[in-house]
Amino acid sequence: MPSAERDDFHRLRRLQLNEKLFEALNFRLEEQILELREAGHIPEDPDEPIRYMCECSDPECRERFAMEPHEYSRLHLNPRDCVVLQGHELLEVEVVVEELGDLLVVRKRELEDSSYPPGAG
Ligand SMILES: [Zn+2]
Repeated sequence: MPSAERDDFHRLRRLQLNEKLFEALNFRLEEQILELREAGHIPEDPDEPIRYMCECSDPECRERFAMEPHEYSRLHLNPRDCVVLQGHELLEVEVVVEELGDLLVVRKRELEDSSYPPGAG
């Protein structure tokens, strides 16, 4: 039934949006920490690693990873990329584009309705 396929499309879409949410939170977190550092409120090296939140599709995930801000920015040059812990990737909605020890950079698949042609299956 096409409606089942549509449900699946929306389910996958929601998983991807979860990742985007965590990414947005990380950028905000980073911005605030960098501001505090610049203002001298936190006696730390400006490029000291920040503990970012895992950007996987699980909304319950509370894992974190430490990374230098410039590295984090580099890994997000492509807006479809997210950083997740090893094992938190969901190949249904993303592909692994880079391995960094305990971390993976994943790129979200294009979820077009056209990938669910009517009558398929
Ligand atoms: Zn995770």
